[in-house]
Amino acid sequence: MSNASVVKGSCLCGAVNVEAKNMSNHVGACHCNMCRKWGGGAFLAVECGSDVSFEGEENIGVYESSEWAERGFCQRCGSHLFYKLKQNNQYFMPAGLFDSSEGLVFDHQVFIDEKPEYYSFANETKNMTGAELFAQFAPTPENT
Ligand SMILES: [Zn+2]
Ligand SMILES: [Zn+2]
Repeated sequence: MSNASVVKGSCLCGAVNVEAKNMSNHVGACHCNMCRKWGGGAFLAVECGSDVSFEGEENIGVYESSEWAERGFCQRCGSHLFYKLKQNNQYFMPAGLFDSSEGLVFDHQVFIDEKPEYYSFANETKNMTGAELFAQFAPTPENT
């Protein structure tokens, strides 16, 4: 997307440091059941492309959450580090990992159909259902 820049961040305990060279300034929320199970709430993520490097990589645990994606976390403090599409190595990283939130714009929400009733964000965003999201990317929507 536009306005890419180099950004740095780290997990809560500092065992893992991350540098993303191509981070988008668009923040998206994912309300899917898996993200909410993973993090206890909506996943607020920024797309970081594939140009992401880590320090302290030995502390990263990886959970294969589906056939096409995996989720990384710090094995010491449990901070979530990334959701990664295996096919093209695209990283979606929690916005909160990064030291600065300057220029970030929260402008889209996905799996809006899986969002529970008890909350909703007031931001004006483009919202997509899970089906709309899958239709946009892959011709194989057999998994959720
Ligand atoms: Zn940590
Ligand atoms: Zn999700």
